[in-house]
Amino acid sequence: MALSGIEIYQLLPKTNCKECGFPTCLAFAMKLAAKQVELDKCPDVSEESRAKLAEASAPPVRPILVKSNGHEVKGGNEVVMFRHKKKFFSPPGLFIRVYDDQSVDAIKAKVQPVDEYVVDYVGMDLSMGGIAVQAQGGDFGAAVEAVRSATTLPLILIGDAGELKEGLEKLDADETPLLCHATNENWEAMADLAKEYEVPLSVAADNVDEMVALVEKLGDAELEDFVLSPTQRTMLGTLTANTTIRRTALQETFRPLGFPILNFPGDVGDPIREVSLAMQAIGKYGSYIVLDNFDKATAYSMLVLIANIYTDPQEPIQVTPGIYELNEPGPEDPFLVTTNFSITYFSVANEVESVGIPAWLLVTDSEGMSVLTAWAAGKFDAEIIAKDAKRFGADDKVTKKRIVLPGHTAVLSGELEEELPDWAVKVGPKEAVDLPSYLKEVI
Ligand code: SF4
Repeated sequence: MALSGIEIYQLLPKTNCKECGFPTCLAFAMKLAAKQVELDKCPDVSEESRAKLAEASAPPVRPILVKSNGHEVKGGNEVVMFRHKKKFFSPPGLFIRVYDDQSVDAIKAKVQPVDEYVVDYVGMDLSMGGIAVQAQGGDFGAAVEAVRSATTLPLILIGDAGELKEGLEKLDADETPLLCHATNENWEAMADLAKEYEVPLSVAADNVDEMVALVEKLGDAELEDFVLSPTQRTMLGTLTANTTIRRTALQETFRPLGFPILNFPGDVGDPIREVSLAMQAIGKYGSYIVLDNFDKATAYSMLVLIANIYTDPQEPIQVTPGIYELNEPGPEDPFLVTTNFSITYFSVANEVESVGIPAWLLVTDSEGMSVLTAWAAGKFDAEIIAKDAKRFGADDKVTKKRIVLPGHTAVLSGELEEELPDWAVKVGPKEAVDLPSYLKEVI
């Protein structure tokens, strides 16, 4: 839990010597609480206080990075249980699993579509997090090599310490895979390996008490980057384990459980249940999610769910205001106008582009609000539309000047005619889905 300014003040020397550049220790403490200065500015703070302040300022869920070749999946760094209280920071990564007893060709065939999958969702590129490679009596090093020949995505490696070492030997030195798992039986060998390769280690246990004891033992072995992997595989078991871990970490600032969570929906063996479990893990604190099946339709659903949960609810997704070209418009084609709320923009653009009708689209700066909300808030009126039309050079794009207002804001047409006297102002349909027929029949 972060300390208040007064609590920080209690840990400072209280001499008001001004060496930190502030007139009093209290003023410095207030700046520290607001994270606007570094503690090092005070030369006289005791080692004991320094340790306490460092401990208090550490994030309650330690950020862990699994990365390779410019890709990364960051887990942790969360500060709230519920998104509406602030926001979630680290979107989970979906990892598709291959096994080391599969042939090289089978591994490549499974990995390639995962590697290539990128889908546009309201202007964001969504893609899979990486690949998990699991030992199953085959050649682990060869399996990792086969995966690496088909993708540069980050890896989760699952096996015993000897197998994992074979896999690690095949990777570039600057990669950071996640190793799985340290258990009560193997933790010393796994700790040595994680330390040698400086990579995070997953900790698997059947219950929270065992998990805590194991994390503490590994901490004593001078490791600090963990991912927690509850062994439960049912909906209720996973939900209970994930929630208990995260709640204890955040609400009680309990450091041994303050790590990202790894879940294995793929272990259930049924593609439908796998997706249900994955959806639950996305909604309830999973950071690394291992699946056995890759299917574009379900992948899209899961990635869109992640995008929606991990978007700041207080910041609408926006597109940049400006003039957009739909289907290569020319000087005789009409101007449509809408706001810069992403979903509004894509609704209009997709409807028009899908039927191949050329048009210009003027996207005004409405602070990311939809048409009706922006109009009600005074962010989408005739003056703003005319100002943006002039600012972005709409006049220079067309010889036949026609501008189409969204049907819900028909009331603006009179004022817009006054603001843009050279233009014919039209009122379009209320719904974007009716734009194609409107453009064909009316324009
Ligand atoms: S340098 Fe330290 S002791 Fe001096 S005023 Fe600043 S906080 Fe207080």
